[in-house]
This record gives sequence, structure tokens and C-alpha cells, in this order.
Amino acid sequence: MMKYPEDLDLRRLIRFSAEDGSIWLSESRMLLLHAASLGSLREEMMNSVGQAATRRMFTRMGFASGMRDAELARKIRGGQNVEDAFATGPQMHMLEGGVQVVPVSVEMDVGKGEFQGEFIWRNSWEAEAHVKAFGPQHDPVCWCLSGYASGYTSAFMGRFILFKETRCAACSHDECRIVGKPAEEWPDAEEYMAYFEPESIVSQMLELSSQVEALRSSLAKCRRLEDMVGESPAFRRAFRLVEKAAETSVTVLLSGETGVGKERFARAIHQRSKRADQPFVAINCAALPHDLIEAELFGVEKGAFTGATSSRPGKFERADGGTLFLDELGELPLASQAKLLRALQEGEIERLGDDRPRKIDVRIVAATNVDLPEAVKAGRFRADLYYRLNVYPILIPPLRERRGDIPSMIAMMVEKFCALHQKRVSGVTDRAMQALLAHAWPGNVRELENMIERGVILAGQGDSIECDDLFPNFVPPADSPVGIDSTGALEDSDREQEGALCDRILASGLSLEQMENMVLREAVTRCKGNLSGAARLLGMTRPQLSYRLKRCLIEPCDAGGHHAQV
Ligand SMILES: [Zn+2]
Repeated sequence: MMKYPEDLDLRRLIRFSAEDGSIWLSESRMLLLHAASLGSLREEMMNSVGQAATRRMFTRMGFASGMRDAELARKIRGGQNVEDAFATGPQMHMLEGGVQVVPVSVEMDVGKGEFQGEFIWRNSWEAEAHVKAFGPQHDPVCWCLSGYASGYTSAFMGRFILFKETRCAACSHDECRIVGKPAEEWPDAEEYMAYFEPESIVSQMLELSSQVEALRSSLAKCRRLEDMVGESPAFRRAFRLVEKAAETSVTVLLSGETGVGKERFARAIHQRSKRADQPFVAINCAALPHDLIEAELFGVEKGAFTGATSSRPGKFERADGGTLFLDELGELPLASQAKLLRALQEGEIERLGDDRPRKIDVRIVAATNVDLPEAVKAGRFRADLYYRLNVYPILIPPLRERRGDIPSMIAMMVEKFCALHQKRVSGVTDRAMQALLAHAWPGNVRELENMIERGVILAGQGDSIECDDLFPNFVPPADSPVGIDSTGALEDSDREQEGALCDRILASGLSLEQMENMVLREAVTRCKGNLSGAARLLGMTRPQLSYRLKRCLIEPCDAGGHHAQV
């Protein structure tokens, strides 16, 4: 006979954060809505699309939430014995207010995929709502609840376990009763399975709309520059400039903070230009020592200097006919700036150690994250070169100015890194998304990309990326989110709540001494027997706590098996 473990671990996952208008179950956003409003939705659906379609939708809705709770069971009780881990589902179903679940018999072997389970349901919200709208029924109506049981158990067992109501409170019984076993073991499984499949018209519509989406995205892919996505006004503005520039051979100067993706913009210009079939060559002016940069840019003739044992072309020659991307141009030494200016003006270069000019046809895209006009004023950058390059400036916005683009960028990055690391990850949790949207992004797109890659690697196979995977030290944004304590009451320090607490204490009939005893014991337990910690928790000194413990004759060893020296 299955017995439920304490559910405090589950209650602690529920946080009320009214300040920012959200309720959380671990990392999933939840809703506290009126059972009556869901009841009216059900009634309206029954009247408009009919019973079969309504049943299907409620079944699938329950199925989806059961699957999510199974993910929770893995996470919270994965390390515990299989019965306690499985109990997460029935216990969550009760905490979420769906129904009271009383186990009758459960036999399972996850390894072998065996499952037989029977439960009694009391107080089903669904039976109640259905009877209220339509009167007593011939057939069971707890569709959403049965969907939940099937979804939860199937995800838990890793195979389809179908739960059926063998009797229902809506049919004038005192309670509902459900039985679950692998779908193949039900003779009439086929008939039931239909309710787990998407509605035919709805699915056709979804199918069509996903086809449209696919066509649209393949169109967009032609238009999409590299893997750049964004619909925010700031991004669209920069993007339009890129498209215009690509049509011509104008020299482009990209500026923006570090990590905004300047090289991507440069590649995008190249790929959309008439030079797309020719080479795209990039050089980072800050990454090379000063005495090597000219050799890199312009090439070397054999014997030009010690060590130049053979001739080799520079980046300019390699980029001939195509595009040369000069990243971090502000770091180019002054001497090299003069040579670069000449190359740009004359359209020809000379290799080091060679005075034969070579014609080159190169489109220049330069990028900088330093303020070039400032650098000109300070004498670190040649004014004439600056004017030569600053023909067509494009300012790339930082990520914090285009937060609206973050969700679509994440979706794309998750897809990309899943393919790269051969993982199956279903995106990020609601809570993680909230944290990502609130982050300041000093490192811009590059930072986001690194974070998502780490998240994909850390997330469990088939799971979502959680806050902890992205921000190991994340503190929820609300100052004092309210949780649910062991009695099921909201934790809150408000006066009203204090009143409610006092009411409960008075009603409990406990003496003050017993109360004190209980509180001290709980504090010691929570601190695993560490008296200094318990004293801090209680807002008293360690000697004060010792004194009280002695007075109350508490044996601290009783408190959760932790030993404490008094
Ligand atoms: Zn029922």
C-alpha cells in the first residue's frame, strides 16, 4: 500500500510573487484562477464544439500539465525511492487543487515498464463543475484529471500509461475511481487514445499554419542575414542600413559595444552583396602584435625581414574580389593606418619587402567599439583615415535596447546548440526567461549565446533550461515572494497574517511552553543541530538558546536525528 511522503518539499516550490504579478511552481509560471471560470469555459465549449472536442481538449490540457509535473518529480525526488518519487504526481494534483487522490494499489517497475495502479478520487473539481452545468451523467467526465494522471504516469514511466475512470462522482457515485495500465493492456485503448490526439480540424489548421510558417521561414532564410533575428525597431533600423549597403560597394563602418555581433553584420553585408561568391576575409587588428600586423594585411616578399623565408600574400590579396573585414580598427597602430589609407585611396598595395604595387579590388567593412572621433582628437587615429572610412556608418544597438528580440534569439540558439551538442532540450523555463529578459547584458549577444550554450549543455535530456543553469547565483526579482508553509497557509509577515497565525495557535490548544518547545526544536532541526545557526534563526544568542533548551528539557537528538551539544 502506497503511502505519501511529507509534501513540504513540494509546497516550498510554490511562490506567490504578487509584486511582479506572478505565481511560481518551481520554474513554471502558474495561474490561480477560479474553478468556476474554467467551468464556464468548459460549458461554452460543450455548447459550441460539442462533447467529443471538449473532452479531447481537456484531456490534452491535463496530459500536458501531468507531463510537466513528472519533470518536477524527476528533479525534486529523483534521488528518492521510486514510490516517493511517483507520489509527487498525486500530491501535486492535490496541491494544485484538482482532486483528492487516495491510492488503492500501485505496482510498478520502471525498468521493465510495468505499471498497474488504482486510485480513488474525491472532491473532483471537474465532476463538480460538469454536474453543476449539465446535471448527473451516465459516463465519467473527469477528462482533465484523467489526462493529468495519464500524462504524469506516462512521462514518469517513459511509456504510454492510460488512466481510465471506472466510475465517476458525476454519475451519482460518492467518488471517482481510476485505473491505469499500459495502453496496450486495455482492450478498448484505441477508442480512448483518440482523446489524446489533437482535434482533427484544429490539427489541420495547426498543420496548415505550420506549413505556412515553414514556407515563410524558408523565405526569411533567404533574407535572413546569417543567423541574425530581430523585429525590434532598433534592430530593424540597423538591418535596413545593412540591406541598403549590401547593394553597393560602399565602405561601411560598424560601431557598437563589444559582443553585439559586428562580424555577423559584416558577413551579412558580404553575403547579400554581388561579391557573395568571392572570399570574405576577416582580421582582428587588436589580436596581432604591431610588428606583424602589416605583414598580415599586405603580405610579405621573401627576404623582407629575418624570418621571411618565403613570400605570402596578405589579407588584402586574399580578399581580392570580395570583402575585407577589419575588426577593432581603432587598435591599428598609426604607422599602419597610413599604409591602410594609401591602399584605400589608390586601390593597390605593396607587399613588405617589395615595391611592386598590386591592384586589389576589395570592399572594406570596418568595425570598432572605441569612439573613433575621440581617438582622432586624442591623436591616436588619423583624421583622414577616419573620414575615408566613415562614409556609411551603422550603429549596432546593444542587446538591452532590443530585449523584445531575446525570446526569438534564444529559440534559434537553443536549436543551434542542440544540433551542435546532440541534445534534446525544450527551450527555457518561464522563470529562466524572466531572468534572461531582466538581465543587463553587458556582453550583449555574445554573452547570451555563451549562456544559452552552457544552458543546453547543463540541461537534462528532454528537459528545459532552468534558471540555475544560466544564472547560478540568481535571486528571484521580487523582494519577498510569499511561499506556502507546512500548514498550507501563505507565509507573510503582514499583521493580518499574524492574526491568522494567532488564531491557529489559540485554536490548537497548545500551551505557551509547548509552542516554544516546538519552535526551538524546529529551528535546531532546520540548522541540522547547529546551535549557533539555530540561535541566529531565532534572533537570540547561543547561550540564550542553550538556556531555553535546557529549561524545556529538549533532547536535541530527537530533532530530526541531529546531535547538538547543549
Ligand atoms: Zn470523475
